[in-house]
Amino acid sequence: MATIPTVARLQPFASTIFAEMTELAVRHGAVNLGQGFPDSDGPAGMLDVARQAIADGFNQYPPGRGVPALRQAIATDRARRYGTHYDPDSQILVTVGATEAIAATILGLVEPGQDVVLIEPYYDSYAAAIALAGARRRTARLVPDGDGFTLDLDSLRAAITPNTRMLLVNSPHNPTGAVLSRADLTAIADLAIEHDLYVMADEAYEHLAFDGHEHISLSTLPGMFDRTIVISSAAKTFSVTGWKIGWACAPAPLLDAVLAAKQFLTFVGGGPFQPAVAYALDNEQQWVAALRDTLAEKRLRLSAALTEAGFGVKRSDGTYFVCADITPLGATDAYDFCRELPARLGVAAVPVSVFADDKASWNRLVRFTFCKKEATIAEGVRRLRAAHTAPASS
Ligand SMILES: *Cc1c(COP(=O)(O)O)cnc(C)c1O
Repeated sequence: MATIPTVARLQPFASTIFAEMTELAVRHGAVNLGQGFPDSDGPAGMLDVARQAIADGFNQYPPGRGVPALRQAIATDRARRYGTHYDPDSQILVTVGATEAIAATILGLVEPGQDVVLIEPYYDSYAAAIALAGARRRTARLVPDGDGFTLDLDSLRAAITPNTRMLLVNSPHNPTGAVLSRADLTAIADLAIEHDLYVMADEAYEHLAFDGHEHISLSTLPGMFDRTIVISSAAKTFSVTGWKIGWACAPAPLLDAVLAAKQFLTFVGGGPFQPAVAYALDNEQQWVAALRDTLAEKRLRLSAALTEAGFGVKRSDGTYFVCADITPLGATDAYDFCRELPARLGVAAVPVSVFADDKASWNRLVRFTFCKKEATIAEGVRRLRAAHTAPASS
């Protein structure tokens, strides 16, 4: 058959940048600072609980909304850190990673043909989930603000139409490392209330805001609790991206809609990992604080090495990522630049344009991750420094 069998609405999402850049990294023996997954383990006590859960026979379908101990731990954690109160029985749903929660939230709450507004650049699964739901995306954008980023509020106003059903907001923000300010979040909340929109708050990096930057959950702003679906995950908080334990928190009517979709995507998932994440939420907050401090320090070292290598480095206030402008190096296209980077400098990274619809506005930035172990970061830094002292030849 000559035609592409993938259904039309998924054809734009058939391949991801990470496969391409990882293959290049392997081919050139490059330090892979492209894909954002840690290469060291989460807290040992949590891993022990998972092993024990398997040994103790927690190997069948867990309850549809998630094991009670995990839902309780999520509720307790959010009450302690944000002062929001979610009923573990009706307002918390355990999902197969934040990724499933994102998809189920759109599938359960947005009709085909309705609009979801994203803020560019955006995490890659959002657009695909919107396409799966037969919904449409419109985009607002972040804009440079000093050495960081801020919301372009006019672009958000312009993106909202009578057809808009949901806003999707991610802070701390992948890929830029921006932590949205209270002013930006308040402006988003005002628009959501004015237009009576649902808001999906992707808080996957809620614990990873640096230098005393405060992560503010949109659910805590006045008028927002009843319209906000908060999504988070154990992946980034406890360095277990392979466990795929995420969750959604929302008022019961909204959460029931998310559940209606979720139960037919995967039904349930991660049986023995759920008690382990419950244990970690209850007992490993100090480990998370140490992770945050370590990441903050690696971010500074990687940022300094990128500056030395001639990049225009942006300020990262959180997440796993720092972005750097390639124009001071005489380059103009981030995608081409990233294709050549493994051979040229011996490191791999990802062009920010892959996270945007308006590629022309984002093709000068490259995203590097610093969520790697000490030896990996040190070698990446060494190679970037070497590039500065000895001009690269390809
Ligand atoms: C990693 C990530 C996710 C996905 O989390 P999982 O729990 O691994 O599915 C969602 N949103 C953002 C912004 C992320 O970086």
